[in-house]
Amino acid sequence: MGDAKGEADRRIGRRALLIGGAAAAVGTAVLARDELAHLWWRLPGVEKPRVAGAVDFRGARWVAASTANYRRADRPDDYGIDRVVIHVTQGSRASAVKAFQDPGHKAAAHYIVGQDGRITQMIRELDVAFHAGNREYNEHSVGIEHEGFVDRPQDFTAAMYAASARLTAGICRRYGIPVDRDHIIGHVEVPGTDHTDPGPHWDWDRYMGLVRREYTAAENAAKNPARNAEKNQE
Ligand SMILES: [Zn+2]
Repeated sequence: MGDAKGEADRRIGRRALLIGGAAAAVGTAVLARDELAHLWWRLPGVEKPRVAGAVDFRGARWVAASTANYRRADRPDDYGIDRVVIHVTQGSRASAVKAFQDPGHKAAAHYIVGQDGRITQMIRELDVAFHAGNREYNEHSVGIEHEGFVDRPQDFTAAMYAASARLTAGICRRYGIPVDRDHIIGHVEVPGTDHTDPGPHWDWDRYMGLVRREYTAAENAAKNPARNAEKNQE
């Protein structure tokens, strides 16, 4: 069994050996950053600590997706996160939650935003969710579903836009993602997809305006914590 320190030392030794071995097999030190990072996350004891039920967005409700619908990773260290992909569920929140819990569904997004503005998180941002139908886009993005149907504009409520914009602004701040339409895209814009969501009724101008406003407000609050505290006391 051994003591904890000895165990940790052996782990580090084994990790160094494996990485050294893999690098030697490739020949020279030409391993791409992603490949090298891969070797790291496959090894035991190198992932960021996780707490059961933890969410990345304050206020989100945690419901775990089936592990068949995502790949465990250690983003943004192994894969940088540089995109947010906007989806529409084509059904109720309950039906989307059920689908993402189903190991046979083969797909799930990180978040579902309801028409009531409530946010459900089903996969940690650390992990690669199978939501975009494109491996590279999955690896480098966060997927957000919105409860409703693409052909029903009334499904996209003010509460939904507001909550989703706060969520996306937070993601952009966490990973340094520019708030623009190159980095906040619809599923329809993912190369190779046959999906059309979020569809023509999703109001991109309105949404991007809200994301920008939330982003700026959060930046200002972070810059002036004292003034913010005063405001809260008024
Ligand atoms: Zn989609």
